Amino acid sequence: GYRSRAAIKLEQIDDRYQLLKPGMAIIDLGCAPGGWLQVASIRTKLGISKAKLVGVDLLDTEHIVDADIFVGDMTDDAMMTQMQEAVGGAADGVMSDMAADTTGHRATDHLRTTALLETALDFALDVLRKDGFFLAKCFRGGAERSVLDLMRQNFKTVRHVKPTASRSESVESYVLATGFHGNGLADIL
Ligand code: SAM
Repeated sequence: GYRSRAAIKLEQIDDRYQLLKPGMAIIDLGCAPGGWLQVASIRTKLGISKAKLVGVDLLDTEHIVDADIFVGDMTDDAMMTQMQEAVGGAADGVMSDMAADTTGHRATDHLRTTALLETALDFALDVLRKDGFFLAKCFRGGAERSVLDLMRQNFKTVRHVKPTASRSESVESYVLATGFHGNGLADIL
């Protein structure tokens, strides 16, 4: 069984868009308790191929075979450097299921989660290989627009995805960017 309901969401997204392939190097931001890493581990066939999985979370994540898991804040430069080294310099995919702790104040929560999205994207633009993908939780509410623009400048396709396992009344959805070409402008944000 999976450690989290979130695992089902990634399965549904991957069934539809076939992001995870054997041998890939994948970074998972906000990986605890480890559901997404479980799915990624099965689908990149660790142990058979040279797949590399790297995860980070503020909280502990129970061990996952062949995954390098860091405990700490992904927004720290030192942490980003460690993750990049652990993945072998470049990644085929960066995934983020991070959300800020909710305050109950909707606009504040939206801004804080969008700030995490922006940091995750910045990191992805630094580590992705050509044709790589970026998948991240994205609360819709307006502030995310400039982040989406930056994605459109750097990836061939950007789409919103909402897995059916994600409750339909929630503002939670995901943004999926594929076909990284890195035409940049990362420094503007
Ligand atoms: N995808 C995970 C799974 O399948 O098990 C569930 C992730 S959970 C919804 C979001 C996680 O993001 C939380 O565990 C939280 O600690 C983490 N998080 C939030 N901000 C973070 C940060 N700045 N650095 C690292 N992790 C962070």
